[in-house]
Amino acid sequence: MGIELSSEARVAPLQSGSPTIATLCSHSSLQLFHGARQEGFRTLGIAAREPPRFYDAFPLAKPDRFLTVPSIQDLPNHVDVLRKERSVLVPHGSFVEYLGPEAFMQLDVPVFGNRAVIGWESDRRKEREWLESAGVPMPKRYERFEDVDGPVIVKYYGAKGGRGFFLAKDREALKGFTPTGPHVIQEYVIGTRYYIHFFYSPLNTDGFRVATGSLELLGMDRRDEANIDELYKLGSAEELRRSGLRPTFVVTGNVPVILRESLLPQVFDIGARIIERSIELFGGMVGPFCVEGIMTEELEFKVFEISTRIVAGTTLFIRGSPYSDLVAPDLSMGRRIALELKRALRAGRAREVLS
Ligand code: AMP
Repeated sequence: MGIELSSEARVAPLQSGSPTIATLCSHSSLQLFHGARQEGFRTLGIAAREPPRFYDAFPLAKPDRFLTVPSIQDLPNHVDVLRKERSVLVPHGSFVEYLGPEAFMQLDVPVFGNRAVIGWESDRRKEREWLESAGVPMPKRYERFEDVDGPVIVKYYGAKGGRGFFLAKDREALKGFTPTGPHVIQEYVIGTRYYIHFFYSPLNTDGFRVATGSLELLGMDRRDEANIDELYKLGSAEELRRSGLRPTFVVTGNVPVILRESLLPQVFDIGARIIERSIELFGGMVGPFCVEGIMTEELEFKVFEISTRIVAGTTLFIRGSPYSDLVAPDLSMGRRIALELKRALRAGRAREVLS
C-alpha cells in the first residue's frame, strides 16, 4: 500500500459515521486540523475556558467545532462529548504535558498511535532503557559528580521547558553546585543539533521496510532555545555565572535544517532500531516520532531525547519539506496522520493505528 493523496479540491468528505480528529488547541494544532481537513475529516478543537482567537486568522486550520472545558485537567469529565463525536485524539507535547501522562493514558477515547508509549517517554530512565537496549548511541550518563570526566548537563526530572538545567565544562565546575531535586547527569555533547521527524506506518508494504511496515523521514528542524542560543553574546559562561545569568533551554521557535546526505543511513538505522525495540517492549510505536540528537565532529549522532508523537517543528513543513516532497507532494505531518487513519479505516485495520 503506497501513499495516495487526495487532491485538496476533490476531497470527498468521509461518511457521516467517520471519526472526528480532535486535539488540544495548542502546540501543532493548526497543522493537525489543516491536515485532517485535507483528508476530509471533521475536526474538533479542545480549549480551556475559551477557544484561542488566533484560529480566526487561519481559516484553513480552524477546527469545525470546539469543546470548551473549564481546565484541561477537567477533560476526563467530558469524554462523553468526545465519544459522541466519534473523536480520535491526536496527542501532542502540550496535550500530554497539561493533562498529565497518566491521565492522558487513561482517557476512555480512541487515541491515534499506541498510548503505551507515553509511559516510556515521560520517564527519563525508562526512555534510556528503551533506547540503549535498542543500540542507539546516547550521551554518557554519570551516576555521581565524582565520576564526571568532561563537560556535563545536569537535567532535573520533569524540568518544564528546559529551565533549571545546569551546565559544567568539567568536574571542577560542578563544585559548589547542589542539585535541588531528582536529576540526571549527562555528558554535554558538543556538535550540531538535529530534530528528526519520522513517521512509522504499520500499514505500508513498500518504502524503507521496518518490521511489518515502513519508516518515513518527513522533515528536520532545529529548535530555537532561549536564552542559551544568544547568551554567548554577553560574555563567557564564567563571567555570566558571576553576574547571576544562568543558561536556559526554553523552546521559542524552530528553524528548518537538512542533514548531509551521507549521514542519512545513520539516522534511518537509529529510527529503525527504535521502532523494532518498541515492538518488543510495548507492542510498537505507531505514527509520528522525533529523534533528537547531536551530530559530533566525528559524525556520530548521539540521541539525547525522543518525542513519541508529533513535534511542533513539523509545522515548518505544512506544504512539505525537502524530505517529504520525495515521499509525496504536499505532505505535512498532520496530513500524514489523517491519511494513515483514513487508510486504516478503509482497510478495516483501525485497531493497528489506534489505542
Ligand atoms: P531535553 O529536555 O532533554 O530535550 O533537552 C533540552 C535541550 O538541552 C536540548 O534541546 C538541547 O539543546 C540541550 N541538551 C539536552 N541534552 C544535551 C546533551 N546531552 N548535550 C548537549 N545539549 C543537550
